[in-house]
Amino acid sequence: MPTVSFGNHICQLQDGETVLDGLLRHGIPVAHACKAGSCGSCMLRAISGGIPESAQAGLKDSWRAQGCFLPCVCHPISDLTLAEPGVGARVDARIASVRLLSADVIRVHLAPEREFEYRPGQYLTLFASPTLARSYSIASLPSDGFMELHVRRTRNGLMSGWLFGEARPRDAVQLQGPLGDCFYTCGNEDQPLLLAGTGTGLAPLYGVLRDALSSGHRGPIMLFHGALGPEGLYLGDELRSLSSRYPNFTYTPTTDPIDRVVAAQVPKTTGYRAFLCGDPAVVQLLKRKIFLAGAAMREIHSDSFLPAIL
Ligand SMILES: Cc1cc2nc3c(=O)[nH]c(=O)nc-3n(C[C@H](O)[C@H](O)[C@H](O)COP(=O)(O)OP(=O)(O)OC[C@H]3O[C@@H](n4cnc5c(N)ncnc54)[C@H](O)[C@@H]3O)c2cc1C
Repeated sequence: MPTVSFGNHICQLQDGETVLDGLLRHGIPVAHACKAGSCGSCMLRAISGGIPESAQAGLKDSWRAQGCFLPCVCHPISDLTLAEPGVGARVDARIASVRLLSADVIRVHLAPEREFEYRPGQYLTLFASPTLARSYSIASLPSDGFMELHVRRTRNGLMSGWLFGEARPRDAVQLQGPLGDCFYTCGNEDQPLLLAGTGTGLAPLYGVLRDALSSGHRGPIMLFHGALGPEGLYLGDELRSLSSRYPNFTYTPTTDPIDRVVAAQVPKTTGYRAFLCGDPAVVQLLKRKIFLAGAAMREIHSDSFLPAIL
């Protein structure tokens, strides 16, 4: 079985074990969250040894070229020597403000200390410490001058607990990313856009929406925001005010099952571009229904907010 060296630690992987599981089994602290190759929290760099291509899927070309990979989905075929991702992968930032949007959702503004290029709707990995990292979608536009995240309070949640209870303006954090393809692209300004999500799945949709509106999108833009109760439908005033300013934008908040509300208002999705974010089961259901109603799979962009496997 391959051997993995990381700093002063050496570990022998067991049959079928991922690099991340091997490191954690040896008590080596590595930040991690989804363990599914999606969030990017555990990214490391291989200084020597072969990395299967599948462990680099979705990473930026520049990271891949440096040997960065996701140890949570890496089954190496040879011995590896690993290091932290290195200068350039993470950007120092400060918490600029933390404000309540509802009883269970906060709006976190971040001030990166150097340029952090992103498209509204993509997601980043937020590091509160070298071993505590979680992914959050970006709700702001680069022209806003700050980066905005919407974070839901999770029971016993490490990151959301810290952000709700302890984080203060000027606290130091690090950002890694961005990742994901949930963002608006110009070039088809008359295409209908369908944006649907539950809970803080609104964060990337809010970014995509404002990006589309400020880019002069002319086609209909329909935003569906679902929550279990009315208190979960945060940002309602801002969204209603946008819908009265832009006649092509309609906002539908709902506490009914969101897939049924979408299907009732958009029975045929042929020609639509769709953005679906939030709870993984709801995203999966919406994706299937919107595809079956006519949208091409390449026009359906989604981010599932997978929970951390601790
Ligand atoms: C691509 C991506 C984008 C994301 N964007 C956002 C965003 O914009 N806003 C946002 O609020 N969150 C987002 N998340 C989720 C976020 O990364 C964290 O998982 C979430 O904030 C909880 O982290 P925590 O440290 O507070 O809780 P943890 O310490 O990770 O969780 C505490 C316990 O609760 C469990 N748990 C946590 N969440 C759930 C859940 N939903 N269902 C079942 N069990 C759960 C965990 O497995 C753990 O056992 C995103 C996730 C991904 C992968």
